[in-house]
Amino acid sequence: MTFDLAARLAERRTAHLYRQRPLLEGPQGPEVVVDGQALLAFCSNDYLGLANHPEVIAAMRAGAERWGVGGGASHLVIGHSAPHHELEDALAEFTGRPRALLFSTGYMANLAAVTALVGQGDTVLEDRLNHASLLDAGLLSGARFSRYLHNDAVSLSNRLRKAEGNTLVVTDGVFSMDGDLADLPALCAEARRANAWVMVDDAHGFGPLGATGGGIVEHFGLGLEDVPVLVGTLGKAFGTAGAFVAGSEELIETLIQFARPYIYTTSQPPAVACASLRSLQLLRDESWRREDLNRLIARFRAGAAEIGLSLMDSPTPIQPILIGDSERALQLSALLKERGLLVGAIRPPTVPAGSARLRVTLSALHSEAQLERLFDALAECWPLVNRDA
Ligand SMILES: *Cc1c(COP(=O)(O)O)cnc(C)c1O
Repeated sequence: MTFDLAARLAERRTAHLYRQRPLLEGPQGPEVVVDGQALLAFCSNDYLGLANHPEVIAAMRAGAERWGVGGGASHLVIGHSAPHHELEDALAEFTGRPRALLFSTGYMANLAAVTALVGQGDTVLEDRLNHASLLDAGLLSGARFSRYLHNDAVSLSNRLRKAEGNTLVVTDGVFSMDGDLADLPALCAEARRANAWVMVDDAHGFGPLGATGGGIVEHFGLGLEDVPVLVGTLGKAFGTAGAFVAGSEELIETLIQFARPYIYTTSQPPAVACASLRSLQLLRDESWRREDLNRLIARFRAGAAEIGLSLMDSPTPIQPILIGDSERALQLSALLKERGLLVGAIRPPTVPAGSARLRVTLSALHSEAQLERLFDALAECWPLVNRDA
């Protein structure tokens, strides 16, 4: 037996599922240069336009001058610096929770929280469309793992009835590839009836959602009792890097004691924490970013409907255009690129088979004129790939 990698790669290419990395030659922003071509991008998760903000850059530079560049060791050894600690305090205050714990990535925060809370003899129930990191975390935990129908409290309730041991219900807050919101009031009510805990990964809700950018729990007015485990990431609307889990004193101490993806890894560079502290302030205070974004979202949905595109039920800056077939999704993305627009085609296995889509994302920094350019190109290109037209 050998590893026949060439055959695996060829098969992926034939299925129109081969993935390539666009090479970015500058910072995040609506106008980018990719592989030498100037493009207007609608695919970044930098929803509030903070990834290239001069004050955030200055905070990171000052942080590096003061704290150096490397974290140096794990948090438990000698890697937990004052900026990390200050950021945790600020995130706890922001989320209105007793404590928050900082991680280097959202993927690791999710692995850490799920595996520290449930194991053999327990149950983890996840939305079918949860982010890959949550599904991986559930499998890694060793708990009985089951997926309920997307956003379906009845399907969750049926599974809760058969659950054993400590039971953790896990969901994205804003679904990353669809843009819709978890029906948290209904899901939390079911969980509470069954004495289960709810964990929400709100990677895409923090920033765009809620009056102060507090995400889906702020949007629905839910507290610690409803959602004991709240995860946010810092690489999206915060524009920096890292992630956090916010919850009770006991939850955070449990993670510090038992979460292997927390314990056995080097802390993020303290300068990154300095940048996140600044971006947290901008994210909370500059509500014009959310207002501009909401205006663009409404305008996008109206304009896309006029062209006859199928949108998803999304009130967020994630506004996918459903195509279905992977090849056609790639074609549409390529046609847009020829016209100077960058919108990524998202295909299985990231999304379910037969639901390939263009994942349009909007940023507070997009102008109305840039949105019009997107509409013009879509109106021209959509009929070229739409066989039903
Ligand atoms: C991006 C994302 C993550 C992973 O966060 P990183 O910090 O990029 O590792 C986790 N969950 C969801 C829902 C995401 O969209």
